[in-house]
Amino acid sequence: MKILIADDEAISRRLLEKTLEREGYEVIAVDNGRLALQQLSLPDAPRLALLDWMMPEMDGPSVCQAIRKRHDQPYVHIVLLTSRGSKQDVVAGLEAGADDYLTKPWDPAELNARLRVGQRILQLEDRLVEARETMRFKATHDPLTSLFNRGVIVDLLARELTRTRREKGCTVVMLGDLDHFKQVNDSYGHVVGDDVLREVARRLLSSARSYDFVGRYGGEEFLIVLNNCDSSQAVARAEEVRNGIANRPIQTARGPLSVTMSLGILASREWDLDLVEEILSETDRALYRAKADGRNCVRLATRSTLYAVADTR
Ligand code: GH3
Ligand code: MG
Ligand code: MG
Repeated sequence: MKILIADDEAISRRLLEKTLEREGYEVIAVDNGRLALQQLSLPDAPRLALLDWMMPEMDGPSVCQAIRKRHDQPYVHIVLLTSRGSKQDVVAGLEAGADDYLTKPWDPAELNARLRVGQRILQLEDRLVEARETMRFKATHDPLTSLFNRGVIVDLLARELTRTRREKGCTVVMLGDLDHFKQVNDSYGHVVGDDVLREVARRLLSSARSYDFVGRYGGEEFLIVLNNCDSSQAVARAEEVRNGIANRPIQTARGPLSVTMSLGILASREWDLDLVEEILSETDRALYRAKADGRNCVRLATRSTLYAVADTR
């Protein structure tokens, strides 16, 4: 484990360094507070720090305060090491953000025991962060495909539409639905159906650009949001997605299976709709037309159909 020591006295620093190296620590030693803060701000910085109180440029408590102000970096367990041993000093050190306090001359056994306490706390923190990240992932992703779940993909779409409107850009929305998917389940069973859904998700991700969003909208329905995509490219991008599914059979436990997808797509620039629900409902109408026109095809939501209906009245 890495540990940072900051002490301006060379002999004292060397002694600490030797003691900690013997204990198996990877020691980074500096001789002032500014360098300590710099080391603790690097990527992959030590998570344990042993700081002298009085140092040039920046004292130990000031380093503690600066470290505690940041919130986006891993927690650093800080032990202040100083010859100032009064109760007031201890209180001031802890209030500045130190986790522990040791007075000089230090005892090697006590120092090691206190650093092991620090390691235990850091391990506990790591486990909590990991659990939080796992929960965050589960709350935002679909368990079968690991794509964004419906709530998240719709939120992302809403946010993207707001940004696009402000910047006078264009967002393309694609709603894809597998064709006759019920037959896959009926003929080969749900396990094979699930395999197909997972592979479809992988292919959708591989047709997407890094700044696009892909989510599972429903059972065998997927929503893709293309950011900054011009309406003239929308159909070509949807054809790429459709071909990505149709061109190559999916390998399953029951042999290779050919599946196809119908897509309804909409380019936000062509519409003057504020509500994400309205956008989705128009995209769904386009998808419905793709199904009606024989499936395995792409249909663009156009306003002309509305006008055509209006004209005939
Ligand atoms: P269409 O071409 O009109 O879309 O026909 P379809 O059979 O795909 O549509 P339908 O809505 O009738 O059936 C969808 C099927 O998708 C029914 C449902 O059992 C299946 N499905 C939904 N979610 C899952 C899932 O998580 N796993 C599996 N294996 N099947 C699912
Ligand atoms: Mg379907
Ligand atoms: Mg469906």
